[in-house]
Amino acid sequence: MNKQRICVVGDGLTGLMTAITLNNIPELEVNLVAKKQIRNKDKRTTAISDTNFEFLKENIKGLKNSYFWSSKKIELFYETKKNNINFLNLNEKKSNLMHVFENNKIRNFFFKEILKRKINIIKKKIKNLNELKEFDLIILCLGGNSNIYAKISKGRSIKKDYKEIAVTGYVSHKFKNLNTSQFFLKEGPLAILPFSKENFSFVWSLDKEFYIQKSKEIKNLIQDKIKEVLNTKNKLSVSNIQSFPIFLGLKKNYFKKNILILGEGLHTIHPVAGQGFNLVLRDIRKLKEILKYYSTLGISLKNSYALNDFYKSRKPENIIMSFGVDLTHSFFKKNKYLDPFKSAILSNISSWKSLSQIAKKISDKGLY
Ligand SMILES: Cc1cc2nc3c(=O)[nH]c(=O)nc-3n(C[C@H](O)[C@H](O)[C@H](O)COP(=O)(O)OP(=O)(O)OC[C@H]3O[C@@H](n4cnc5c(N)ncnc54)[C@H](O)[C@@H]3O)c2cc1C
Repeated sequence: MNKQRICVVGDGLTGLMTAITLNNIPELEVNLVAKKQIRNKDKRTTAISDTNFEFLKENIKGLKNSYFWSSKKIELFYETKKNNINFLNLNEKKSNLMHVFENNKIRNFFFKEILKRKINIIKKKIKNLNELKEFDLIILCLGGNSNIYAKISKGRSIKKDYKEIAVTGYVSHKFKNLNTSQFFLKEGPLAILPFSKENFSFVWSLDKEFYIQKSKEIKNLIQDKIKEVLNTKNKLSVSNIQSFPIFLGLKKNYFKKNILILGEGLHTIHPVAGQGFNLVLRDIRKLKEILKYYSTLGISLKNSYALNDFYKSRKPENIIMSFGVDLTHSFFKKNKYLDPFKSAILSNISSWKSLSQIAKKISDKGLY
């Protein structure tokens, strides 16, 4: 029987992981459209949940644990005029809570895996969807900003500009033990993500105007702030500073005929909770399950309800999680009316035992 032909467009983390995962279904022939295989300069890290980490390992047998830095503890702090209140700690004794990888290293590994599996790579930049009409199913993983999506979602989407910039970078340090932590500071949330014994990455979301004002002295500002929150006078070396505008973007339509949008194009969310790629991985898991079901039964994907099934099963969680992250961001954002009450609310949160259990479960497995 002829294999059904799938085309995955885009060589970001979504496109590469989708191509590898679907290549595990024997009934499918996967093709990948990649603009250019230039060396990836994305010096960022991504934190994924334990369940998503297992999903990666299930689908890529050769994936080594050494690509990941695993944490059993996450500490959350809220900055007040007097001090930083440690309002919640998430702990796991036996399993890990999250796994952090360096984007450029995992992306290069994914590329090698694509080559090892002999997945056909079509090197080009797609301008028109007609270029792909020979395929049974087309999966567009073009990031958050492609105008190609307009033909599928007809511009129907929820959009919000946070007017914030996420500043990211790496820091080398000499701490003996450094936990993963998030500091809700007056300037904006700062996440500290250890990814090796002597290195951590940070994501600091700042008001756009504040960032523009401070852009010339941003390195010193970051250095001083990190020293302050980690309570150290030792020198820290900050490198690889990058900046990203922050948006909320949610497509209302996920697909048209046999063309599906996946990844940042489907949902772009605030990085405050590190949930973006975690949602994408849950989407990819569901897509695999649905395509496997239809293709093993020998049903033509082109004319099936597969994409509609995907849309129906993933849209509720994607919406709830995206707005949940948005709500978290709004709660911690500086607000002269709410700020006087926040420390009281947060001080009581630590005594609410089931909250940390709920938070752990949702960030690990999502809502299902
Ligand atoms: C600051 C920051 C921190 C984050 N931290 C986390 C985290 O800790 N945990 C987490 O789960 N998520 C996190 N995320 C989200 C995560 O980075 C993304 O979900 C993930 O990188 C997936 O991106 P993507 O592949 O969908 O899009 P992209 O990385 O934008 O990739 C799109 C690809 O498509 C290609 N392309 C575009 N147009 C065409 C075309 N016409 N033809 C061919 N190719 C094309 C581009 O070259 C690009 O390679 C974070 C995001 C930001 C901004």
